[in-house]
Amino acid sequence: MENFDLFVVGAGSGGVRAARTAAALGARVAIAEQSRVGGTCVIRGCVPKKLLVTASRFRSEATDAIGFGWGVESVGHNWSALRDRIGEEVGRLESLYRKGLDGSRVTIFDERAAVEAAGRVRLASGQAISAEHIIVATGATPTPLDIPGAEHCITSDDVFALPHLPARVVIIGGGYIALEFAGIFKGLGADVIVLHRGASVLRGFDPDIQSGIASAYLDQGIDMHLNTEVHRIEALPVGYRVTDRAGTVYEGDVILNATGRRPNTKAAAGALALTPSGAIDVDERYATSLEGVYAIGDAIGQLNLTPVAIRQGQWLAESLFGKAECRAPDFGLTPTAVFSTPEIASVGMTEREARTALPNIAVYRTNFRPLRAAVAGSPERVMMKLVVDKRSDRVLGMHMVGRDAAEIIQMGAISLQRGITKREFDRTVALHPSIAEEFVTMRSHD
Ligand code: FAD
Repeated sequence: MENFDLFVVGAGSGGVRAARTAAALGARVAIAEQSRVGGTCVIRGCVPKKLLVTASRFRSEATDAIGFGWGVESVGHNWSALRDRIGEEVGRLESLYRKGLDGSRVTIFDERAAVEAAGRVRLASGQAISAEHIIVATGATPTPLDIPGAEHCITSDDVFALPHLPARVVIIGGGYIALEFAGIFKGLGADVIVLHRGASVLRGFDPDIQSGIASAYLDQGIDMHLNTEVHRIEALPVGYRVTDRAGTVYEGDVILNATGRRPNTKAAAGALALTPSGAIDVDERYATSLEGVYAIGDAIGQLNLTPVAIRQGQWLAESLFGKAECRAPDFGLTPTAVFSTPEIASVGMTEREARTALPNIAVYRTNFRPLRAAVAGSPERVMMKLVVDKRSDRVLGMHMVGRDAAEIIQMGAISLQRGITKREFDRTVALHPSIAEEFVTMRSHD
């Protein structure tokens, strides 16, 4: 039986980092991938999604340009050209990932693998492989809807292969993937309806973000329906009809199910204990219920973000092969973004979380029209918010809806990580004229 020091199941963000780190530390490493090396982020997630978002924003840039004196005759978009260019870029990145693994002397098995027992995996081809350590980094997949006609839906995975841009899109869901694709389709020129069963979108985000994005989308003509539970979907001669529980019907050429993702646990195939929500159960060092078997990334369903999976993979490989730090990474201040248009980003506590945890909170908030919007004549707005602990003056949370939010909040996350106080924000000299300067000039609070 072939033997390795480490066998990684899944060559996505977490698995690739774990494999390459372990190999660099001298371990003999193999990795199995059932689909394409690079995983969700590179092939059907962050990267192609961000490129679609970028593409979708040029329409409003062109409209804004008119306010700045540009003559813009007409804007037309070629979906298949965009899709193919993104496909090429994804292919290029995939081959870089593969080269990186080869260069680190990681053996790649291009097939499905499953954990059979402690120290043993079985490949789809039937080959059994033994390994002292096994890491399951199998990611997550879209959760299918459980309603009649669910088979008519596509998922975010399918968007990147659509033959043409649909004229009418119905999106089911209110999480970040739903809102990102709503912005993408709207920006590219489709009519978009969003159906969400909750009372607010983006569960877990600050309430000012939830309401800010919902009203921005309504202003853009995205037809948002909250408290709306989808009941059934039927095919029509052209397109589909979606009926909600109240009997209201909506029609679209494409119905996108963006209601969530569930951990991919087939590789655990009864060998590993799962949590009640169906993720692979791990302790604080990512150890599963089976000796020598670990799990990281979306498969453990904690914080489903690429940088989190990468950091978990890196830490785990280092802790298994010699460079152990004692504590596993702390993800308490992980910044997150939603690449809707306008963009959203957050780090730290929401206002609600802070009010629950601490007795005395100050909330600094601003909501304004940026300089360019006035000249462009666009309805664009920016919301920025700081949540501060009054007793210690520590900034607990930083939230933003508006242009470049992800870039600004990434920088803010460094200062929150260092335990910055509001006084230190105030002492920072503004960079003028910028949007970010508003974070250091907020003086009055609720
Ligand atoms: P993955 O990257 O999903 O990799 C798992 C790999 O395992 C896959 O390649 C899969 O084919 C393989 N696999 C599964 N089972 C087996 C098996 N039995 N044998 C062999 N191989 C197997 N995160 C961000 O941080 N920022 C974003 O902007 C962002 N945008 C996203 C947009 C979309 C549309 C989606 C779907 C996700 C997005 N994410 C984003 C989330 C991010 O992609 C994931 O958190 C990240 O990829 C998780 O990494 P992972 O290593 O756990 O799993």
